[in-house]
Amino acid sequence: MKTIDDLDVAGKRVLVRADLNVPLDGTRITDDGRIRASVPTLKALLERGAKVIVTAHLGRPKGVDPEADAKYSLAPVAVRLAELLGKPVAFATDTVGASAQATVAALQDGEIALLENVRFNPAETSKDAVERGKFADELAKFGDLFVSDGFGAVHRRHASVYDVAEDLPNAAGYLIATELGVLKKLTEDVQRPYVVVLGGSKVSDKLGVIDNLLDKADRILIGGGMVFTFLKAQGHEVGKSLLQEDQIPVVLEYLERAKAKGVEFVLPVDVIGSTEFPDLKTKAPSSPVTSPVDAIPADVLGLDIGPESRKLFAAKLADAATIFWNGPMGVFEHPDFADGTRAVAQALVDSSAFSVVGGGDSAAAVRILGFDENAFGHISTGGGASLEYLEGKSLPGLAALEN
Ligand code: ADP
Ligand code: MG
Repeated sequence: MKTIDDLDVAGKRVLVRADLNVPLDGTRITDDGRIRASVPTLKALLERGAKVIVTAHLGRPKGVDPEADAKYSLAPVAVRLAELLGKPVAFATDTVGASAQATVAALQDGEIALLENVRFNPAETSKDAVERGKFADELAKFGDLFVSDGFGAVHRRHASVYDVAEDLPNAAGYLIATELGVLKKLTEDVQRPYVVVLGGSKVSDKLGVIDNLLDKADRILIGGGMVFTFLKAQGHEVGKSLLQEDQIPVVLEYLERAKAKGVEFVLPVDVIGSTEFPDLKTKAPSSPVTSPVDAIPADVLGLDIGPESRKLFAAKLADAATIFWNGPMGVFEHPDFADGTRAVAQALVDSSAFSVVGGGDSAAAVRILGFDENAFGHISTGGGASLEYLEGKSLPGLAALEN
């Protein structure tokens, strides 16, 4: 794959698609991991004398009502990016309009601008290729070259990710190169034992990856909300827990296939729950109850794996040579239900395995719970993109780039 090292960027306008999709509390950035991960490519381009124009998205604005969309503005991100780069970041208050045009026109070599949330223009995510193409053409006018570095969006067939690559000579940035290098280590010549930990909310989000990993992993540990569909499939009652009844046949088929292939499936033996979903804003105490998985009370919803499961999961990770973890073990956003996620993160830190954390919420959890990022082999910036790669799918944003 061609990277920015193969491009002559001095004096050129370089349009960069970055992933700056960070969690916000109002205008406060609660985890700047994706901004920091974007810095090496931007720095390199600036140092080499490029004029850098960054386009990126934030959240899922509807792209029709400016007032409703205001909370998805990239303005706070421009401020943080300037701090990290140690130089001003000019901010355009629209995507391709008058502000963007004036901002780009004013750029000198070695200067950088950020365009407003690209999803404020509905054409960005349109299913209509012509509509998307037209918008991509507008974006492409800002650049002599295109650099794709928004790994977290490469699984999207969006104008700024996919279509724009047709308009300009292009290459991948360092973040994409790094992420792909890591994913290769999880799919080719994998060091064994290869242990996968999956959690998060919905089992339906993760079925594709389980399907594929049944051919690759030696052991699969399941936590998070998806656990309850597995437990129900095994005949347990799960109270008021998150349950996707319609997925039970699929889950049963996976359990059968795992047995046939000698892949060890590890489910929690106990869970922590509560009679109500906890208040994630106030974090008010929620009277958690712990129960073995064969005795989950009917009025309880499971919100984390229990203490015995934490020990079990740590033991099942101890001998791994490669670990991939996607999805929190519980509702880690509330302190009463964060211990399972903390225990898995600690097991990765303690392990000598090559460990990869994938998934937006998992990566945020690791940092919010206070772990040192450097204690992990790699923390991916792209949850959906990593999962789709591991599912064996072709990622449009990568397929569109020149080789
Ligand atoms: P990632 O972004 O890392 O891929 P997901 O988006 O799949 O992870 O899931 C993250 C969410 O799953 C978190 O917000 C967490 O609160 C939620 N979650 C974890 N365990 C449960 C559970 N038992 N019940 C409901 N939600 C859960
Ligand atoms: Mg998520």
